[in-house]
Amino acid sequence: MRVAIVGGGLAGCALAYVLKVRGAEPVIVEAADRLASGASGNRIGLYNPRFTAELGPQGAFYSKAFFRALDVFGRLDEIDWVPCGALHLITDEKKARRFSKTCESWGWAQEDMRLVDAREASRIAGVEITHDALYLRRSGSVCPEKLCRAYADGVDVHLNVRAESLAQVKTDFGADAVVAANGLGALAFSACTDLPLRAVRGQVTLVAGGGALDGLASHLCYGGYVSRAVDGVHVVGSTFQPWLDHCDLLEEDDLDNLAKLKEAVPVLAGAEFEVIGARAAVRCTVKDHFPVIGALDAAAGYYVSAGHGSHGILSSLEGAHILAGMILGEQGDWPSALLVALSPGRFSTIC
Ligand SMILES: Cc1cc2nc3c(=O)[nH]c(=O)nc-3n(C[C@H](O)[C@H](O)[C@H](O)COP(=O)(O)OP(=O)(O)OC[C@H]3O[C@@H](n4cnc5c(N)ncnc54)[C@H](O)[C@@H]3O)c2cc1C
Repeated sequence: MRVAIVGGGLAGCALAYVLKVRGAEPVIVEAADRLASGASGNRIGLYNPRFTAELGPQGAFYSKAFFRALDVFGRLDEIDWVPCGALHLITDEKKARRFSKTCESWGWAQEDMRLVDAREASRIAGVEITHDALYLRRSGSVCPEKLCRAYADGVDVHLNVRAESLAQVKTDFGADAVVAANGLGALAFSACTDLPLRAVRGQVTLVAGGGALDGLASHLCYGGYVSRAVDGVHVVGSTFQPWLDHCDLLEEDDLDNLAKLKEAVPVLAGAEFEVIGARAAVRCTVKDHFPVIGALDAAAGYYVSAGHGSHGILSSLEGAHILAGMILGEQGDWPSALLVALSPGRFSTIC
């Protein structure tokens, strides 16, 4: 089966990878002159589930996605996979209650997810941490840009081609099915205009390794995040600006990212950081914080994978498995509540 995928970011490339592995013939159609030119172009991205207090369909989705990612990342070369662990700092009472429920309801083995006190968190992090934390030993980071390239290895990719409509792509590429995996660009397609996708700009700050962050052994998340050094560089992220949709770099965003880091890790309060770069992009988000994955019009062969928000590394991969199953007509074992929660029809609009 030939499947045309509009968009060469994580959503499109992950789907192409899964379809290729399952013996289908994916084709990626990308408007830019390279893959991962949009939100997926960061140098370092953390793969963490979006934690829910109760497991429910959303928690089950991210939980499954996490372990699937560990399996898939182990099969790919040159994606800068650093499974160094992540500490999610418990910075307020609300988080304390939520993370404690997550630990109970998600049912992960203790060695993969556990609450640690500030002292143990400090030992794991290699810097002094003043908060208790939720610790995911096998969490870590990849290079999203390289991940896209690895997923798309061996796939037929057409760059510098802007899709005008799903019908046209289907005809032009002789496809049996077409998938809108082009983030906010999907809104230009008539089948998607009613989807409540919205832009949230974000900027990450790249900081030279060494200095006050020397010895940081795990990633730290606290609303923002700081990575362990990868090739001598830390990423500090990230801003959330629903009121902006441009990708110009803003100096105040770097200051904001570093201020949040210093607030979360007081031992860094007086530290000087050498900012060596930054990157801004626009996320495609949905109000209910869950991606939109499913059929727009199954009879016509139109599908969508968008709205991956801030957790696209995991959601794009799990979403790709679900969508590939639907397109190929395979019986998956996903609960119907999950498919409904992901479906474009959940907004009760006719897409
Ligand atoms: C600053 C920042 C930090 C982030 N950090 C993390 C992180 O640490 N961990 C994590 O999991 N997630 C993170 N995310 C989120 C993650 O990057 C996104 O969820 C993910 O990249 C979304 O992938 P996508 O393929 O849906 O969109 P995109 O990567 O934006 O891809 C869409 C593609 O479609 C193409 N396109 C659009 N319209 C058309 C058209 N008509 N025809 C052809 N092509 C078209 C675009 O050129 C683009 O390449 C971050 C995002 C940002 C902005």
